[in-house]
Amino acid sequence: MPVVRIDRDACISCGVCAALCADVFMLDPTDSKSAVIERFRVGNDMAKGEIPADLLDCAKTAAENCPVQAIRIE
Ligand code: SF4
Repeated sequence: MPVVRIDRDACISCGVCAALCADVFMLDPTDSKSAVIERFRVGNDMAKGEIPADLLDCAKTAAENCPVQAIRIE
C-alpha cells in the first residue's frame, strides 16, 4: 500500500491538499495543519497513512500542488 507522510512542521495550513484530495487529507481542527484522515492513519500518527492504491493519483496531485512540498508519497 502507498504510504503518505506529511511534514506537519512545514505545513502552512493552506488547505490545498484537503481541497484537491479530501479522501486522504484533512485539516486537523486543533492546529489547522494537514492530517491524514483517520481511517488511513498508521497508529495514532496523523502525519502518516497507508492509502488504497486507487487514491494514489489523488494523493499525488495534492503532493504536487503543496506550496511547501510538505507531502511525501512512498
Ligand atoms: S497543501 Fe501542503 S501546506 Fe497546504 S495544507 Fe496541505 S500539507 Fe499543508
